[in-house]
Amino acid sequence: MRRVFPLLLLLLALFAGCRPKGPVAIEYGQDICAFCKMIIADPRFGAEVITKTGKVYKFDSVECMVAHIMYDLGFDNVEAAYVTDFANPGKLIPAEEAYYLQSTRLRSPMSLGIAAFSSKKDLEKLKAEVDGLELLWKDLPNVIRESGFNPENVEKFIRRVP
Ligand SMILES: [Zn+2]
Repeated sequence: MRRVFPLLLLLLALFAGCRPKGPVAIEYGQDICAFCKMIIADPRFGAEVITKTGKVYKFDSVECMVAHIMYDLGFDNVEAAYVTDFANPGKLIPAEEAYYLQSTRLRSPMSLGIAAFSSKKDLEKLKAEVDGLELLWKDLPNVIRESGFNPENVEKFIRRVP
């Protein structure tokens, strides 16, 4: 038993290590969006899902992440979802707690133009410039559904001109 115990601890530590705690950093300019397959390039819009089995999916936009959950993973399989705070590029925050702004004048990688914020004040600052619609996490599936953004017509939504 004296010998088995440290081994058991080691195995437990390894097992715990399989599931990432908190978001895994997105490698901008390298990682590929799991939904639209474009390179994740704009650090204001990256998003990420960690599933209950510990798989990490990275996305170039909020809309790609929500569509991937809706049409592929299923909300029940999501352990954690993260979006980038638009006011702090590269910083991932819990998706459920974020405030969202949808504006056609936002140059997001996909033409749905959704930005996320950790602070409502930051959202309001941008809203004063670009106008748009304020949303919460629970509103997003409906917005995605109504826009017709789904796996069959992803191409149509990729923003070609910067
Ligand atoms: Zn994408």
